[in-house]
Amino acid sequence: MSDPARRPLAGSAVTRRSLLLGGAAAVGASAFGSALTLPGAGAAPLTDPFTLGVASGDPLPDGVVLWTRLAPNPTADDGTGGAPRKAVPVQWEIAEDPNFRDVVQRGRTQAAPEFGHSVHVEVRGLRPGAEYFYRFKTGSEVSPAGRTRTAPAPGSMEALTMCFCSCANYGPGYFTAYRRMAEDHPDLMLHLGDYMYEVGPKPGDVRHVLGAETKTLADYRRKYAQYKTDADLQAAHATAPWLVVFDDHEVANNWADETPQKPEPNFPERRAAAFQAYYENMPLRRSSLPRDGRMQLFRRYQWGALANFHMLDTRQYRDDQACGDGTKVVGCTERFDPARSLTGEAQEQWLVDGLARSGARWDVLGQQVFFSKIDLLAGPAEGHNTDSWDGYVANRDRIATAMGSTARNPVVLTGDVHEHWAAEIKRTHDDPESRPVGTEFVTTSISSDGDGHPGADEAALRENPHVKFNASRRGYVRTRFGRDQLRVDYRTLEHVSRPGAEATTAKTFVVEDRNPRLHPD
Ligand code: FE
Ligand code: CA
Repeated sequence: MSDPARRPLAGSAVTRRSLLLGGAAAVGASAFGSALTLPGAGAAPLTDPFTLGVASGDPLPDGVVLWTRLAPNPTADDGTGGAPRKAVPVQWEIAEDPNFRDVVQRGRTQAAPEFGHSVHVEVRGLRPGAEYFYRFKTGSEVSPAGRTRTAPAPGSMEALTMCFCSCANYGPGYFTAYRRMAEDHPDLMLHLGDYMYEVGPKPGDVRHVLGAETKTLADYRRKYAQYKTDADLQAAHATAPWLVVFDDHEVANNWADETPQKPEPNFPERRAAAFQAYYENMPLRRSSLPRDGRMQLFRRYQWGALANFHMLDTRQYRDDQACGDGTKVVGCTERFDPARSLTGEAQEQWLVDGLARSGARWDVLGQQVFFSKIDLLAGPAEGHNTDSWDGYVANRDRIATAMGSTARNPVVLTGDVHEHWAAEIKRTHDDPESRPVGTEFVTTSISSDGDGHPGADEAALRENPHVKFNASRRGYVRTRFGRDQLRVDYRTLEHVSRPGAEATTAKTFVVEDRNPRLHPD
């Protein structure tokens, strides 16, 4: 398939719509202006280095992170993406229009081999609540353009359209849901983890996964490169700024701090390689640059006075899973040990303080694993997934208490389980009379586990009265935050085993201001 995104379109106007859908983008290298042409460095210019697209993220009222990564041969075995073993100069520009007539800032930076030839530009000095377009250039090659926007000014109550997703395993399905998200033209996107899976090819895959299970930095870099060549994923990144957090598969299945699921001698080194590759491939700020095998990923972003996004890291600081890390664990008392934590003490304190100080209309927790209690065994016996918050009950109850006492409208967003769910969060789930203190929206996967089925888990809905909705199909969740209500659309696709499925809304819930209950619409 030809890729119009990287073909200069001399003289033709680029429309917002074609841009958002990952279509026409580059309008010719000359638009960068001769002042920015670097002196003949003697280096051979790279041919077609922007194969991985562009991205933006972590929006502030006056700035945003712009990202790209040079990879003229994205699937090179050594993980270098075919870029040379030296730094490559890269120019960037950001404009108020998609044709780059009103460029507001330009600059130059280096794509260095020690960062996988990624580029992270932290632009400041932009206008709040404004739309921008950006692109990169190296040699005579110009990247596709991306659209982004800044957060609104502090105090703004302007409505927000935000889509969130998780779990995009390359082998089991096409990334059509990413394109459908882009077509919704959201102001912001959240990725709640499992952006990339460490696994090699598996039986039943509909797309060929390169390489075996990822262990080394070269492995992780190469796998991200394969994912990022996907046109649907590139369209989603080029449409809006993202707030990202990882879950387990960006490193390895169900890891907990420095403990892998199964014993593995060099896990700390493997984790450090995975963190490095994650940073390189995401539009993150330098404050998230991995250091000494650790990475600062939990962070807070404000969207005017409307919403505070508390982005959580539920992997790096957690105690090992209780009672052997199962999905339907029965009779596990370790789950209730008050010393056990999913967030770690520092992150819990940061979150509780952040909720108390927020003042936002909506406090949104962007995180990975099921927050509400869910009994996954039919009948009187209870079975719990100890990788989720059900394995860390005291930690959850302390946070739910903080939600109920200090935040106006707490909303928890979740990924991980490859199905859509919706729930009302109780202050404590061990008292059936306990009042709801917040709402939880769980998104299905982009592609993990393949097509899914049209049904719902009726048994789980019966067992768990606070759980109001389930659907198995692939998709994402679209939200509309307003002054008086939150609307949540569960978007599903009939198939991902072939490209091209449309997205439809399987269910809509409305949450009213100061009333943490799910109203079907
Ligand atoms: Fe997943
Ligand atoms: Ca049960």
